Amino acid sequence: MASRCWRWWGWSAWPRTRPPPAGSTPSFRHHLSTQEKTPQICVVGSGPAGFYTAQHLLKQHPQAHVDIYEKQPVPFGLVRFGVAPDHPEVKNVINTFTQTAHSGRCAFWGNVEVGRDVTVPELREAYHAVVLSYGAEDHRALEIPGEELPGVCSARAFVGWYNGLPENRELEPDLCCDTAVILGQGNVALDVARILLTPPEHLERTDITKAALGVLRQSRVKTVWLVGRRGPLQVAFTIKELREMIQLPGARPILDPADFLGLQDKIKEVPRPRKRLTELLLRTATEKPGPEEAARRASASRAWGLRFFRSPQQVLPSPDGRRAAGVRLAVTRLEGVGEATRAVPTGDMEDLPCGLVLSSVGYKSRPVDPSVPFDSELGVIPNVEGRVMDVPGLYCSGWVKRGPTGVIATTMTDSFLTGQMLLQDLKAGLLPSGPRPGYAAIQALLSSRGVRPVSFSDWEKLDAEEVARGQGTGKPREKLVDPQEMLRLLGH
Ligand code: FAD
Ligand code: NAP
Repeated sequence: MASRCWRWWGWSAWPRTRPPPAGSTPSFRHHLSTQEKTPQICVVGSGPAGFYTAQHLLKQHPQAHVDIYEKQPVPFGLVRFGVAPDHPEVKNVINTFTQTAHSGRCAFWGNVEVGRDVTVPELREAYHAVVLSYGAEDHRALEIPGEELPGVCSARAFVGWYNGLPENRELEPDLCCDTAVILGQGNVALDVARILLTPPEHLERTDITKAALGVLRQSRVKTVWLVGRRGPLQVAFTIKELREMIQLPGARPILDPADFLGLQDKIKEVPRPRKRLTELLLRTATEKPGPEEAARRASASRAWGLRFFRSPQQVLPSPDGRRAAGVRLAVTRLEGVGEATRAVPTGDMEDLPCGLVLSSVGYKSRPVDPSVPFDSELGVIPNVEGRVMDVPGLYCSGWVKRGPTGVIATTMTDSFLTGQMLLQDLKAGLLPSGPRPGYAAIQALLSSRGVRPVSFSDWEKLDAEEVARGQGTGKPREKLVDPQEMLRLLGH
């Protein structure tokens, strides 16, 4: 049946130039149109991109059915495993995602890793369209000597550890040192600095994992440096997050006024959000604080500072060579204007001693399946507005589509756009015609491979368990961090 060119959206849209298929009696025709009106769509990944794409498709197409496949037994991607535990309001988007998952035309299948448990060609065979929304699961390496030493880790792994990402649950970073250096000046770097410096009692009522809280309680880290290869006008973090850092209880900022010389004139020309951010930096660096703030800073036992115009060259080993003891930085100056401003080395070097190095220079997507084009340089699936280049019926959204930058709201807009392109193609008859089996075919494959998917109602059982475990200690939840335990609790 699938080989005939019948279209899923029924007779009303059938091109007038083409007669209905021979032998289609009215009752058979009715049967076909009901079946074919239901486009079966699958989304890979249940982070914001996956859920927002599904939401758009379900809202804009009254018959579409969407299956969301997720490699973790639990949904929500970086909303669960990335967003900082002390930012619970950001996680409210989970309520919207839950509404989407409760739609009778949507299903969530966790514990299914696409590329391992099922291939993209198998999904394409089973569905009218496949959307890849699997995010950026890796980190960008600095590719400098010493990066592999104990005492060095990626901010991605550190974030995964305090948020209970199964693969990072055993990280146990050594916080027995006085000074930590974070390489990079984006919002992830600020999240990591804030978690390192926040008094642990302020994290007790968040969903940070019990293990991470225990290690943070024993932490001896007093100073955190955030190192940027460019200057104050090029920082990648945003004003709300900077303000939070400046007001962090028990911590004081260290900014060198010399880094801000001449900036007052330059900020007149920059866009307003950048201007406000730089003004806040400038005020913090150069203005004398009022008596109350001065007293607060004087009594602070911890500190954080921004080091500008420094590009990492090497992680320095301790004398016994066993672990990181510092970072060698090339002093830089800026060349070019506006967005194209580049850091170039002056030839001078500087060593910054520390016991912990966290590299926070960005996340990175991985290729998921050899059949899917992948741009290894940019770390994205090559696409035009979400349509994967040269592969009809295959789409992408979120970080794997546009690279690992942008907040949840950016990801939402981007995912709606992908959904729109898919529906346009569906309407234009560019997707496979005839019915597709959808999950029924994939379920048979998974079952033959011994994979037991976790449904959304299964997740709700795990959710209830986490909430119950958190109640005793006043936490919104105590996250389950071991997938085996999750599956055991579900009787899988
Ligand atoms: P993800 O959220 O990463 O989702 C991808 C999903 O795909 C994951 O669930 C993953 O498990 C799954 N997956 C991966 N591979 C496979 C596979 N092979 N098969 C099946 N499933 C797979 N934005 C804000 O607005 N506010 C914040 O406070 C904020 N904090 C952040 C903190 C951190 C540390 C980071 C890194 C980002 C933060 N962001 C924040 C940005 C926001 O998280 C992203 O914009 C958004 O999560 C990107 O969505 P995504 O769906 O593309 O990727
Ligand atoms: P990011 O915003 O892209 O910042 C990366 C930082 O690393 C930049 O300072 C960059 O400097 C630096 N860098 C990159 N390559 C480098 C190199 N080779 N050597 C030295 N420095 C290098 O990435 P991110 O911090 O991972 O954040 C990812 C996205 O998530 C962002 O859009 C962010 O806003 C979002 N997020 C939001 C929140 C929030 O809303 N609270 C929290 C966390 C994350 P250059 O500019 O010089 O390249």
